[in-house]
Amino acid sequence: MSEGLRLDGLTKRYGGNAALQGVTLAVPDDTYISVLGPSGSGKTVLLRVIAGFEQPDAGEVRFAGERIDQMPAHRRGIGFVFQNFALFPHLSVRDNIAFGLRHRDVSPLSDSGALRAKVDAMIDLVGLGGLADRGVHQISGGQRQRVALARTLVTEPRLVLLDEPLGALDANLRSRMRAELRQIRERLGVTFLHVTGSESEALAMGDRVIVLDRGRVGQFDEPDAVYTQPASANVARFLNCYNIFAGHLDGGRFMAAGGAFVLPNARRAAPEPAYCIRQDLIDIRPSDAAMRAGETGLVARFVTSEYSGSSVQYFFEVEGGRAVEVEAHLSHRRPEDLEPKRPYTLAWHADQALVFG
Ligand code: ADP
Ligand code: MG
Repeated sequence: MSEGLRLDGLTKRYGGNAALQGVTLAVPDDTYISVLGPSGSGKTVLLRVIAGFEQPDAGEVRFAGERIDQMPAHRRGIGFVFQNFALFPHLSVRDNIAFGLRHRDVSPLSDSGALRAKVDAMIDLVGLGGLADRGVHQISGGQRQRVALARTLVTEPRLVLLDEPLGALDANLRSRMRAELRQIRERLGVTFLHVTGSESEALAMGDRVIVLDRGRVGQFDEPDAVYTQPASANVARFLNCYNIFAGHLDGGRFMAAGGAFVLPNARRAAPEPAYCIRQDLIDIRPSDAAMRAGETGLVARFVTSEYSGSSVQYFFEVEGGRAVEVEAHLSHRRPEDLEPKRPYTLAWHADQALVFG
């Protein structure tokens, strides 16, 4: 594997506020990387520093073994796709895409035949065939996003940074574009660094996922590892599929508001104790049902449920009012008719919980 992007101790401050705090990463070549993090976690700043639109206060950016953090942005060979990329409204699809090639710093294309061939190939690649001569105001939002992508890709960047590129699209289009973006990247063989605030998008799209937590790398791993083994309670929280209890360890138990859980064999060191159980690992039973060997759980009142086709999300409340969510996949079990306000036992295998602290 050749050397891709390497970040070492990257730090960026605004006033007293650190947007990035010592980000160190090695991103392999020819990979789809998702960058997941809540709003304000430093995702955009990270991309802007890599692209060269911002100077870091400390740290290094290397690409293919070469230090690039002192290099002007337009010399880095890095493409950038913004969420609301401003296209030239008076130009056609073709001319918007050609713009970058005509005006690029490194070997601008002036041979009109070669330029046209390149642009047409890119128009096909991103699925805009037949729309080349339309004005960009005559195409849909999804098609405009493709023009923005094509305009970046046609310059043959070594690395493509995408800042919430699907954020402006409706849900249907968004999920179609997920698959397409992955295919386009595979055909080109360049690394995509795709920033998103959506955990499902990050897990679905990335060969690997970087989780940003307040300007630090909370985890960098394969999607499956991030999902099943989040490195901290915060990473688990960003995934939106764990119940996370604060509390303390007492003997063999984790004492939380609403329950005392048998501890799993493994625990991870962390400054704040937290008990995390994935929503789809919880079984709902009548309140008088006994726990089976190796299980732990709690009793909670059913509040309401939300049906979403392939799964149902059940909302419960424990004494004191905190919510507990259970996700049931309909391919695994029948939806249960639960009675609002009635107590139920929520049970899971003690070893399936993640405990920090
Ligand atoms: P996000 O993960 O939502 O993309 P950002 O990378 O935009 O977050 O921002 C990270 C942090 O840096 C935030 O606290 C933001 O307010 C701050 N920040 C970003 N850009 C600037 C700026 N130009 N001036 C001051 N603060 C900034
Ligand atoms: Mg952002």
